[in-house]
Amino acid sequence: MKVAVFDTHKFEKEYLLEANGEKNELKLLDTYLTVDTVELANGYDAISIFTEDDASEKVLDKLKKLGVKFIVLRSAGFNNVDIAHAKKLGIRVARVPEYSPYAVAEFTVAVMLSLNRKLTRTHYRIMEMNYSLDGLVGFDMHGKTVGIVGTGKIGRVVVKILHGFGCRLLTYDVVEDPELIEQYGLIYTDLDTLCHQSDIITLHAPLTAQTHHMINERRIVRMKNGVMLINASRGALVNTKDVIDGLKSKHIGYFGMDVYEEEKGLFFEDHSEDILEDDQIARLMAFNNVFISSHQAFLTDTALKNIAKTTIENLDCLEKGEACENEIK
Ligand code: NAD
Repeated sequence: MKVAVFDTHKFEKEYLLEANGEKNELKLLDTYLTVDTVELANGYDAISIFTEDDASEKVLDKLKKLGVKFIVLRSAGFNNVDIAHAKKLGIRVARVPEYSPYAVAEFTVAVMLSLNRKLTRTHYRIMEMNYSLDGLVGFDMHGKTVGIVGTGKIGRVVVKILHGFGCRLLTYDVVEDPELIEQYGLIYTDLDTLCHQSDIITLHAPLTAQTHHMINERRIVRMKNGVMLINASRGALVNTKDVIDGLKSKHIGYFGMDVYEEEKGLFFEDHSEDILEDDQIARLMAFNNVFISSHQAFLTDTALKNIAKTTIENLDCLEKGEACENEIK
């Protein structure tokens, strides 16, 4: 098949080419898929997209007119695709539901530890030959209550790691997992209680209408003073303005963000020569108790290999007209 691969990054190209071999004719494009760039898909049977590409109704209508039959996402999350509309148009969409939950979970815990033990500040101090320890006091993870929102593939790995640290684990999910309760002593509760009782809150639910801005002013004021909040799921799970207010009032003691509501066009790119126009991220960058990474949690060698392999397998089964286990219905 001829496949236009939108929004390809240097870090993934060799993995895609290796997994594909001679199978498909891949056109690796740096461009995001948008209503203005969709014409680039002209003449292709399928397209591949990533988290920042826009496959909303208008774009899908154009793709259909251009003869595109399949969309394969190189991500697990698919909030950027209007699935119902794709289905109506007969465009089949598949994703990579699991490539390495360990990559995201391990990064999440790394951010927790880094914020807690102030590792970024430590590094900068040492580089300036300041060997003082004042202002670097952290806390033992052991015995702390961690609230995990979403105990799916990633959340459950976070549970296992933090269980090893001796944390008390509170969870909120629309589906309870009895195995996790039995093996790790998880306590499922409602989101308000989780917010009220946790020392650390980490988000691993998908972005849906129900989870949009689930962390907002109302919930932040219920949180413990000095709470640590980590978001490595999707930016819009938190109301960024409310989080900034929480940080300014010192109610939120630490914030780790790997994803950002307005990350489109900002994350994954080098803007070092530009003027920063986004005032919210500028404010977030000014807090010394905020750790920001640009959607990096998934980025391991294992994950990239698995993403590329599953993407090519998805193309194979869609082309053959077979049932595809990763198709989003
Ligand atoms: P998953 O589908 O295995 O798990 C999601 C869990 O959230 C499920 O247990 C589900 O029941 C629960 N959930 C759904 N709606 C909920 C709600 N309204 N309230 C509470 N819980 C709810 O997904 P996963 O593989 O664990 O990934 C979780 C999210 O992580 C993805 O949706 C994606 O947005 C994000 N992600 C981020 C990165 C990154 O690099 N930062 C990489 C991969 C995935």
